[in-house]
Amino acid sequence: MVDSHCHIAGPEFVSDLDAVIERARAAGLVLALVILAAEDEAEVGQAVTVAAAWSAVRFAVGIHPHAAGTFAADPASAATVVDAVMTTQPLARAVGEIGLDYHYDLAPRDAQQRVFREQIRLARRRAVPIVIHTREADDDTFRILHEEAAGDVGGIFHCFTGTRDTARRALDAGFHISLAGILTFPRALELHEVAKMVPLDRLLIETDSPFLAPVPHRGTRNEPAHVVRVAEVVATLRGVAPAAIALATQRNFERLFGP
Ligand SMILES: [Zn+2]
Ligand SMILES: [Zn+2]
Repeated sequence: MVDSHCHIAGPEFVSDLDAVIERARAAGLVLALVILAAEDEAEVGQAVTVAAAWSAVRFAVGIHPHAAGTFAADPASAATVVDAVMTTQPLARAVGEIGLDYHYDLAPRDAQQRVFREQIRLARRRAVPIVIHTREADDDTFRILHEEAAGDVGGIFHCFTGTRDTARRALDAGFHISLAGILTFPRALELHEVAKMVPLDRLLIETDSPFLAPVPHRGTRNEPAHVVRVAEVVATLRGVAPAAIALATQRNFERLFGP
């Protein structure tokens, strides 16, 4: 079992990290992609503790679109900051999460786009995949991915919540689709269709911990162990055993993020 997206180096997990990792191990997790906000020194520092405590972790390092405003005057400096963290963190395997968020619009859209582009270019220079966060910004996201030839490095659309059409576009662009706890909400009917259509070799599962706790944990802090629930729901929708989903997503994780 893998969790392709979690934020366990964040402040929410500092006080009981060992217990969280123990529950993840007990749930069968063997790999987890931990997202680091490159500009957050506390989180980047905590990553060392997380890696020492749990051999399953690999890291993605990026500037989230919410933080893009800080780099508006010099978007290339965002990539410089990410590059520096990746150089010091031997388990860094991807650039992310990066992208566009027009739902919250916490940074000017122009800054979001330029910071996104610079980080795709960094991923191409380093030949590592990207982890994409996109919300209410499909057209700009696909346009930038195309213009920057991001398909060369590929990666993941994380916490996918789009339609089957959007999923098809992401797959055609060469990306994987990662499903999160939202899938377990009974009214996520379109997402249920997405879960059935994604080819097994392009599928990933995640928690986005501490966010998005799945049913029946809704409203509490999410944690990696709960990815089991996402795997179960995907398996039920596809009419296969949860072990088949676990195995396929583990293989995809290993292919994307290496040893
Ligand atoms: Zn995200
Ligand atoms: Zn995230």
